[in-house]
This record gives sequence, C-alpha cells and structure tokens, in this order.
Amino acid sequence: MSIAAVGEIIWAIGIVAWYVIRYPFERRAKRVRVVSDRRSPSETIGLACALFGLAILPGFYVATGIPKIADYPASVWAVALGTIIFATALWVFRISHKVLGRNWSISLQIREQHRLVSDGPYALVRHPMYTSFLLMALGQAFLLPNLLVDLAGLVGFAVLFFLRVNKEERMMLENFGPQYRDYMKRTKRIIPYLY
Ligand code: SAH
Repeated sequence: MSIAAVGEIIWAIGIVAWYVIRYPFERRAKRVRVVSDRRSPSETIGLACALFGLAILPGFYVATGIPKIADYPASVWAVALGTIIFATALWVFRISHKVLGRNWSISLQIREQHRLVSDGPYALVRHPMYTSFLLMALGQAFLLPNLLVDLAGLVGFAVLFFLRVNKEERMMLENFGPQYRDYMKRTKRIIPYLY
C-alpha cells in the first residue's frame, strides 16, 4: 500500500470518528428548547463551505483520485504529522462538546436555561470547537497530498469562522452582558494566548 493511501484511510477513519462524536449531541439538542435563533443566510453559507471543504471535496478525492492534476508527492512524515493533528482535533472536538453539553447548537442559538460555559477548554479559548475545525483542516492538509483539497479545507474553515465569530460574540454579549465581557478579557478566540 502506498503512503498516500495510508493517509487517505486515516482521513476517512477520522471523519467517521468525527460523526460518531457529534451524533449523540445532535439527537440530544432536539430536546432542549431554543429561545432565540439567529440563523441567517451567512450562517448557512458558512456551514455549507465548511461541509464542502472538510468533507465533500476530500471525500470525493479519496473515492476517485480526482483532481489528479493537483496531486503532489506524499511523504511518511506528512502523514504522521497529519495523523497527530487530526487526532488532536478530534480530542478537542470531543471535550468541547462534553463541556458545552446542552448549550450546544449547530448554529447561533440561545437555548432554554442557557449557561455561560467558561471551564475546560473554554477557560483558554472562547471557541474551542472552531479550534478543532482549524486543526481538522490542517490535519487534512498533511494527510491528503492534493493542493486543491488542502486549500478547500482551510478556506472552508475560514469562511465559516469569519462569517460567524463576530455575530456569535455579539449574541453572547447581548445575552450575558458583563459576564461575557469579563470572560472575553480572560480568553482568546481560538489559539490559546495568541488569537
Ligand atoms: N463557538 C463555540 C461554540 C460552538 S456551538 C466553540 O467554538 O466552542 C455554537 C453555540 O454555542 C452558539 O449558538 C452559542 O449559543 C453557544 N456558545 C458559544 N460559546 C458559549 C459559551 N462560552 N457558553 C455557552 N454557550 C456558548
């Protein structure tokens, strides 16, 4: 088996694991009432771009090898590094879901008895789930040796993140006021101590 194929198999296992982590939260979220919903066209565009760049295009590439023209040589060190980064992404994704619990939503929503979470990964960064998406995009870039696929993952993450983060923080500020303002002073957005 080629090292490129090894990278593709690890990526596919990672995506399945991602959904296994998310699925129970999707089910549980249906049972918690939403009191305020900010779903907008830009939300839908962001989610669609992330889905395309981080799942649909790389999935198509892994299944068909298309577009071959953007391939570059795979290497053992890149696959090893990609595996470590992708595994870290899944770990951050899982602990963020666990800590956020019933306050989680796929889009910008405030739920009944919404609580401001500021422990676990949320003590370091305000958006650890988006940190995990960035790590996923980086992991994908090392695991799959195709320039177009690698760029699509990073762009998909960036579109989702930048379309959403200001609106999300504004929504949290409106709901939690000084409590969220304080929390913002103590934390960074997605990279601990940096950004
Ligand atoms: N941006 C966060 C959460 C993503 S899920 C992260 O990256 O980890 C999106 C939902 O989480 C939003 O609808 C909002 O209601 C909720 N949320 C975001 N930050 C939160 C916090 N610190 N405490 C509680 N809920 C939060």
